[in-house]
Amino acid sequence: MTTKAESTRDKLVHEQKLKEGQSYTAAHLGKLTTLDQYPMFVPSLNREVRGKVFIQDLIATTGCELSMNKLPAGVTVPFSHSHKENEEVFIFIKGQGQMAIDADVFDVTEGSVVRLAPEAVRCLRNTGAEELYYICIQSKAGSLGQHTFDDGVKVDHQIDWR
Ligand code: ZN
Repeated sequence: MTTKAESTRDKLVHEQKLKEGQSYTAAHLGKLTTLDQYPMFVPSLNREVRGKVFIQDLIATTGCELSMNKLPAGVTVPFSHSHKENEEVFIFIKGQGQMAIDADVFDVTEGSVVRLAPEAVRCLRNTGAEELYYICIQSKAGSLGQHTFDDGVKVDHQIDWR
């Protein structure tokens, strides 16, 4: 757990935007347009960035890491990277951009969903006039045993909505 992630968590706890129960953790980061309020130190850049929030330290996920991202207009992520063992899924929510993956470059926009194998060399840039919003999910490549209707179990439970 990093100091910066702790401070983001502390901020959410302080503002009562983090709720924990026996079997869940819920955090409310606010509108995506305000993601800049959470600073994060990036070791490979040796500086703080804003507009990217990693979720694992906040809600204690055990099977995936996830980040919520806001990339300003005209900005290219300042480095390419690959991964050791995690695949990534990028889910684009709003804006216009391009992904560079190995030798390919293609457009992404609201509704684009991209899976990358760990070894894929990737970069992203915002090609639009507005901010580009996306969520990136990391999980161990090859770890998915069962999914969708194979893993979901219907439970009879009386809900007291309040
Ligand atoms: Zn990555």
